[in-house]
Amino acid sequence: MVNEADLRHLRRCVELAAQALDAGDEPFGSVLVAADGTVLAEDHNHVASGDRTRHPEFELARWSAAHLTPAERAAATVYTSGEHCPMCAAAHGWVGLGRIVYATSSEQLAGWLAELGVPAPPVRTLPIQQVAPGVPVEGPVPELADRVRELHRRFHGRS
Ligand SMILES: [Zn+2]
Repeated sequence: MVNEADLRHLRRCVELAAQALDAGDEPFGSVLVAADGTVLAEDHNHVASGDRTRHPEFELARWSAAHLTPAERAAATVYTSGEHCPMCAAAHGWVGLGRIVYATSSEQLAGWLAELGVPAPPVRTLPIQQVAPGVPVEGPVPELADRVRELHRRFHGRS
């Protein structure tokens, strides 16, 4: 179940996604939260640099490996505006992070991008649990879908 605290962190992810868009980058944002609710780190997409692996979930996985114990990682939650791609889900699984809560699913995003006529990405879209089966995953959260969809439409110049 997604509670009020989860929603607050997800709204922050959507804000970070909007910041990425304002900076000319793809609209994705993520927040890493400790077991006690402390926000440890946050990031948004940095793929406009030309490095298309610079996803926020990947950055947070590597940050957690550098700064947290295995127990702290397992107890932490990653919130994200869009479900992890397979690369980020794998990184999340490899570093042993805990729960994931996402606002919108990869399936939703694929549908929106298809509507916008955006070519398919070079990496297949898979649900997180097909890549990292041990990770507890929650999402999507319907009340955030319109806002995230609007960010993607703006990024692709459609509104
Ligand atoms: Zn990713």
